[in-house]
Amino acid sequence: MDRGTRIAVLGAGLAGLTAAGLLQRAGFAVAVYEQTPGFSRIGAGIILGANVSKVLRRLDLEDAFAATGIRPDAFLSRAWDSGEQLYRLDFDADCESRFGGPFVTIHRADLHQLLQRPLVPDTIRFGHKLSGIEDRGDALTPRFENGARARELVLGKEGPRFIGRSAPRAVFPAVRIKGNPIDDCTKWWAPDRHTLAYYMTPDRQEVYVMAALPCDRWDGDGSPVKGDRDEFIAAFDTAHPDLKRAVEATEDVTVWPIYDRPRNDTWHKGRVVLMGDACHAVRPFMAAGGSAAIEDAAILSRCIAEFDDPATAFARYTMIRIPRVADIQQISIANSWMHGPTETDWFFGYDACTVPLDRAMPEALCPNLQR
Ligand SMILES: Cc1cc2nc3c(=O)[nH]c(=O)nc-3n(C[C@H](O)[C@H](O)[C@H](O)COP(=O)(O)OP(=O)(O)OC[C@H]3O[C@@H](n4cnc5c(N)ncnc54)[C@H](O)[C@@H]3O)c2cc1C
Repeated sequence: MDRGTRIAVLGAGLAGLTAAGLLQRAGFAVAVYEQTPGFSRIGAGIILGANVSKVLRRLDLEDAFAATGIRPDAFLSRAWDSGEQLYRLDFDADCESRFGGPFVTIHRADLHQLLQRPLVPDTIRFGHKLSGIEDRGDALTPRFENGARARELVLGKEGPRFIGRSAPRAVFPAVRIKGNPIDDCTKWWAPDRHTLAYYMTPDRQEVYVMAALPCDRWDGDGSPVKGDRDEFIAAFDTAHPDLKRAVEATEDVTVWPIYDRPRNDTWHKGRVVLMGDACHAVRPFMAAGGSAAIEDAAILSRCIAEFDDPATAFARYTMIRIPRVADIQQISIANSWMHGPTETDWFFGYDACTVPLDRAMPEALCPNLQR
């Protein structure tokens, strides 16, 4: 597209910040409008693989990303009660060269800080909540403040779906764990619940624990609420001692409802296009929603730079992204990722910066092909 095209990115999340950085590098004028007044270091971690590292490499952020978070020695799956090892993916040199980059666990706020680094100063306009978009024929003008979401402009009004799980989350200093240190990154599995426990910093001083527990109903809105630590610990009564030690070390627990949305393949309308959770909010059970958002940003930026008009660019973007995201949605609903022996190359080996833009996804990169 013509480099004189001005681009408004709505939301300074993982997809928005990544797209803004890549589009500015491609020569576009980009402004990002974010509803919150500013970012704070709210407590949560995120797991990201080589498919994300390869995108961050294009923003010269890969080294800082891997050095700010931690490169875990392995991803472990263990049985909730017996502690039996169900699966192990070692992140050794062989694995990194096969996937083409490191696997990293990191504090979300640290990742947000990194993603802002490549942006031209004053790119982000905080305190701007989108309320509508006015189409004047030759230009779109975003309107802010009364709270409508960009996705409603493309997909209409449609509420998220509470999936009957809540996610208590806690961040705390590793010194609170008594006895042996925990493993770098472990998912603990029970038939009706699971927990992730991992470090978020290279010195292994900051631990993140997140569980997905059965929850019949959620009366609040989508906002987190303060959790009851004793109730949280009680949910681990039958857990293996290694898991109990991590859970008992928590101080403050915050509980989030888990929502997703049914698959909807309408991702663009006119000159408005969606990325990330706005068009494919997935259950966080594959730990892949953020990765998918960053991959979206990379493919969309390339399509905008490469093709002459928005209609062609957005059609190519969705053609490339929908099958892969559909696979991620399906695996997330099944909650099967790395529970046992798992083919992971198609996911971590993917390079959103080099996949061809002129044809549908090769089967090797998209094994389930949910078209
Ligand atoms: C418990 C949990 C654990 C997870 N763990 C992982 C993981 O380990 N790995 C992984 O890859 N993914 C994980 N995910 C998923 C991941 O967090 C999301 O998929 C990812 O953040 C989506 O990125 P995004 O850019 O689409 O949206 P976000 O990062 O949510 O950003 C959206 C931004 O838009 C802003 N915004 C919203 N509405 C408006 C408006 N009207 N006007 C202006 N701004 C607006 C918001 O304030 C926000 O800053 C997890 C999710 C959950 C719930």
